[in-house]
Amino acid sequence: MSDETRMIRAGAVIGPLAKTVGPPIQRGSTVLLPNAAVLYDDDNYVTYGRAGLSAQAGLRSALAELEGAAGVTLYPSGMAAISGTLLAVLKAGDEILVVDNVYKPVRRFCDQVQQQFGVTVTYVDPRKSAEDLVSGASDAVRLIFLETPGSLTFEMQDLRRIAELARTRGILTATDNTWAAGLLFRPLEHGIDISIQALTKYVCGHSDTFMGSAAASDPNVLRRLEDGVTNIGWAVSGEDAYAMLRGLRTLPLRMARHGQSGLQIAQWLQAQPEVAAMYHPALPGCPGHDLWARDFSGTCGLFSFALKPASNAAVDAFLDALQLFGLGFSWGGFESLAISCAPQLKVRNFERDYGGPLIRLHIGLEDPMDLIADLRAGLDAYAGLAR
Ligand SMILES: *Cc1c(COP(=O)(O)O)cnc(C)c1O
Repeated sequence: MSDETRMIRAGAVIGPLAKTVGPPIQRGSTVLLPNAAVLYDDDNYVTYGRAGLSAQAGLRSALAELEGAAGVTLYPSGMAAISGTLLAVLKAGDEILVVDNVYKPVRRFCDQVQQQFGVTVTYVDPRKSAEDLVSGASDAVRLIFLETPGSLTFEMQDLRRIAELARTRGILTATDNTWAAGLLFRPLEHGIDISIQALTKYVCGHSDTFMGSAAASDPNVLRRLEDGVTNIGWAVSGEDAYAMLRGLRTLPLRMARHGQSGLQIAQWLQAQPEVAAMYHPALPGCPGHDLWARDFSGTCGLFSFALKPASNAAVDAFLDALQLFGLGFSWGGFESLAISCAPQLKVRNFERDYGGPLIRLHIGLEDPMDLIADLRAGLDAYAGLAR
C-alpha cells in the first residue's frame, strides 16, 4: 500500500480498551459498523456519533439514576435543555404557564421564540396556590413550567400538588431543578413529568463546562424529548460529558458542604443589624420553608438576603468590599460568588417588596468563617455609606 493509504489506516484501535474508572472519551462522528446488515439498525447500534458515544451514554445513565428517571436527554447548555424541552412538547395554538420567577433567559425565549411559533405564554405569580394555578389554567394550557426555588428570590411551589392537579386536566409539568441538582429533590417522584437541570452549575461543580439535561419517565414524553434532540441536531462532546460525570462523583460530598456552610452563613447574616430579610428556603421562618422541609432532603449553597434600604452606592460598596466572594453570575462551582439582583427583577410581572436591595450569594467550598469575615467587611463598607 502507498504511504497515503498506510497513514490513513495506521494506529486504528485493535482489541478491547483497557478498563479505567471513568468511561473512555471517544471522539467520533463516523461509527464503523460490523457488517452491511446492521448499517441501518438504529435500534441496536449507535450508527452516528451525534447521538453520543461512551462518555455521553455513561452520563445519561448516571443522571437517570440520580433523578430516578427512565431516560435523560443531554443538551449543550442548561438553556438549550429548557428551550429544547419547550420546543419538543409545545405546538402552535398551545398555551404555556410560566412561573414569574423563572430564570430570566427562559422568559426571553418564551417571549421571543415561543410566541413567534404561535404558543401563548402566560406568567403566573409563583406564590399562587396549586389550586388557583391549575384551576385558573385555560383549556389551551399544555404545559406548566416551574422553578422551585426560584434562583434569585427563592419562592417555593407545591410541586407535588401542582403535578397532581395538572395531571387530572391532561396538562404536562416541567421544572427547572438546577438548585437541587437532582440530588436534594427528585421531581419525577413527586409526579412532575420533566426535570430539567443546568448541569453547568452543581453537577459540573468547577464553573468550566456548559451542559443541560432533561429527565423523564413517561415513554411518550421521553420519545418527544429524544426526537427533539435529534430534530434540532444538538450534540455534546465526549470531553464535556466526561467532565460532568467526574463532577457527579463528588456531587453529594460537595453539596453537603455547600449546604452546611450556606446555612451557617445565612444564620449569621440574619443576626446582623444591616440585614432586613433572608430568602433561604432551608432557613426556618423563611418563605417556603415548610415545603422545603416536606420535599427536599437538603440544601445547596445558593440563597439571597435583603440589605436594609440604602442607596445604590451603598449596595455597590458592599459588593466591592468583598475579597473572597467573586462578583459574577452562575453558581454551583467551588468558589463563592455575589451579585445584586435588582436589574434582573425589573422584567417581572408580579412585583414584590423584599424589604430592601436583594443580594444573592453562592457559598462555595471555602472555610465559612473566612467568608463570614469577608461579608462583615462588606457590611461595614455598606454601613459607612448607609448612615
Ligand atoms: C444557569 C441556569 C440555567 C442555564 O444554564 P446554562 O448552562 O448557563 O445555559 C438555567 N436555569 C437556572 C436556574 C440557571 O441558574
